Amino acid sequence: MRYIESTGEVWLVGAGPGDPGLLTEAGREALERADVIVHDRLGSEAILEKFAHVAAQLIDAGKLPGDRRDLQDDINAVLYQEAAEGRFVVRLKGGDPFVFGRGFEEYEYLVSRGVRTRIVPGVTSALAASVGGLAPATVRGNARSFAVVTGHQKDDGIAATPRADTLFYLMAMGRLERVAEQLQSDGWSEHTPAALVTDASTYRQRAVHSTLGGIAAEVRREGLKPPGVLIVGDSAGAADSLPFPTHQPTVVLTEQGTPTRERFSAISPSVSLLPRPLWTVEQLSLASEPGLAQRLAEALRLPWIAFEDGEGVAGFVDLLLQSGLDLRSLRGRIAAAGDAAADGLRAVGIVPDLFVSDAGELANRLRSDGAALATATDAADSGLLHLPTYRRNHRQPRPVDWAFTEYVSLQREAAVARFVAAYPAAPLDRLTAVVGDDSTARAAAKAGFRAVITNLNSHSTEPAKLADLAV
Ligand code: SAH
Repeated sequence: MRYIESTGEVWLVGAGPGDPGLLTEAGREALERADVIVHDRLGSEAILEKFAHVAAQLIDAGKLPGDRRDLQDDINAVLYQEAAEGRFVVRLKGGDPFVFGRGFEEYEYLVSRGVRTRIVPGVTSALAASVGGLAPATVRGNARSFAVVTGHQKDDGIAATPRADTLFYLMAMGRLERVAEQLQSDGWSEHTPAALVTDASTYRQRAVHSTLGGIAAEVRREGLKPPGVLIVGDSAGAADSLPFPTHQPTVVLTEQGTPTRERFSAISPSVSLLPRPLWTVEQLSLASEPGLAQRLAEALRLPWIAFEDGEGVAGFVDLLLQSGLDLRSLRGRIAAAGDAAADGLRAVGIVPDLFVSDAGELANRLRSDGAALATATDAADSGLLHLPTYRRNHRQPRPVDWAFTEYVSLQREAAVARFVAAYPAAPLDRLTAVVGDDSTARAAAKAGFRAVITNLNSHSTEPAKLADLAV
């Protein structure tokens, strides 16, 4: 056997039950550092999307090539190999690594071969289901102990019934009847409260409450699908008439930079954001864009310069500086369509002479006066003089776990079509678009978004409807 002498190491990290917010800080740091991440499925996509370094190599543990007789051997071999080659490896496991996760086997295998190995605990799905189903693991004076049990065993049997007040069965959805029968033959009454919670902690979470005698039929009737946790004991009925807690919304940002994270964070402290621009912004250089210097000079002679986004403002200022000018050379008046543009202008110390919330309307109002529109190279024709100030480099977007997403930020009309093309599988009918101006709102509604929210900002004439965003 070869013992490694390298700087590589493996961290066995508990990903928690699915909600990226339930990953630990230590787990997050490990993911951000990882060269290689060997991950399970169980709702961890959103976590990878959010925290994995863009350059990290992602390996789906369920899809490893190998002889398949025991996938665990293949996983162990990959972990060892990657660490032996000096990489920082994260083995990301659903829930907690030591709760039915075979984490200890991986630990043993690695340390016995000299691999530096660390373990980061995670929130087990048993306890996420306890919260999701409002079935407390313990209740003062009533439920004094709990046990986490497997409903699945190698020999096809079911684990002996533990002596505890609240029981959490994992991997039991395929055999609810048998678990219930065994419990009853061990003296548990058929009237004992029972609950089943699937996809605990995620937006897909569902919970069914019944009794030990009725839970299997109820779960079938409701069509619940794995993964799920069966909870049995008085505490499964503890919260019969109480409202269920809600989840934190996630916003997908489709454009770089705008709107700011701060603005979204102001909606609700619990909003989590996925930084996932559909394009990156590249400033243009006068030296390498033939004709641009002349176009800029032409624009500066017109009575109006209009902006429809923040990047347009930044790019415009940059072009001025490149030509040896600065903001004082602006003789024309300044117009802004939408909040992103007004924000961008404010950032360089300009309050627009004209603000409207719709780019199309702005063009209509300025066309007869003569105006230049400073915007992207690929912006749609507005009828104004097109002054390109930046280029959008469209990116192949990474997959989104729609189960965690409620809001999509679409600041400009161009983003709507781009989003729909990039994510054909996005469930538009249950996503809310947060848009920057009215024409984008119309485009988003036409594309099929369920709801469209504007007025998230300080420039609109109407007060921000923050309450609309509270889940
Ligand atoms: N180590 C994991 C358990 C792995 S066994 C943990 O600590 O949670 C896989 C089982 O976990 C599934 O069969 C299901 O019973 C349960 N499970 C995992 N994620 C779940 C979730 N989000 N909601 C409900 N049950 C889940």
